[in-house]
Amino acid sequence: MSSSFNLFRAPALALALGGTLSLAGCAPAISTQEEVQVGAQNAAQISQQLPIVQDAAINQYVNQIGTSISSRADPRGIPYHFFVVNSSVVNAFSIPGGYVYVNRGLVDRASNASELAGVLGHEIGHVVERHGIEQWQRAQNANTGLALLYGVLLGRNPGTLEQVGIQAVGSGVLARYSRDDERQADADGVQFTMRAGYNPNGMVTFFQKLLGEQQGNPSALQQWFSTHPLTQERITSTRQMVSAIPAAQLRGLTTDTQAFQNFKARVRSLPAPPRGQ
Ligand SMILES: [Zn+2]
Repeated sequence: MSSSFNLFRAPALALALGGTLSLAGCAPAISTQEEVQVGAQNAAQISQQLPIVQDAAINQYVNQIGTSISSRADPRGIPYHFFVVNSSVVNAFSIPGGYVYVNRGLVDRASNASELAGVLGHEIGHVVERHGIEQWQRAQNANTGLALLYGVLLGRNPGTLEQVGIQAVGSGVLARYSRDDERQADADGVQFTMRAGYNPNGMVTFFQKLLGEQQGNPSALQQWFSTHPLTQERITSTRQMVSAIPAAQLRGLTTDTQAFQNFKARVRSLPAPPRGQ
């Protein structure tokens, strides 16, 4: 958190929040309604900053698989929204209020539906556990929240906002989770993907694949690793969670679907990502 933050646009957020949050001192706990409002406003900003895929079939599938998980995961019943970003960088992230983003580069590396489901389950876990919004609120209590959020979502240097784009979001402070947050999101991911009928081992195989690739090709996975500290120890403990599930229960779960393979092929056929993405 040593970077300079973008104070440039902070007043816009203060207005957008409608004065519901105190800007100094101890803010009251953020309600679900306020969280959803913060999420919606920032999702609108993200849609201007990142090359969000507009293809109807792609959006339909990512929302179908995502909602099949989130609707069984978040007891608050808030609607979730899932997006594919036309970027070859491997990344996925979520923001408070139920907005989840997966990059094309990540879809490309998922071999089956359960691997994508595992990533989505993990990201949904961060939202359900309120990791992002609580981090944001803690920062706000230190009276830096607005700058922090804007540093995260809009880039750290107002002069180069457009260029910063995806890097700003992907490596943002808001999404820089602690190891404890990661472990909790992994545990949630296992449970949530199972509830939706997907084999939770997909999360293990996918994260293992990313860790392996990171060792050979660190730059391609830099964003993912900077926001989601991923270690062999985390993967091992997730594998242990999956091993503890009765085999009979795992056998009934889905590893892959034709719908996923169709989705993946369609993502692969998209026009090349914009320059720099
Ligand atoms: Zn994470």
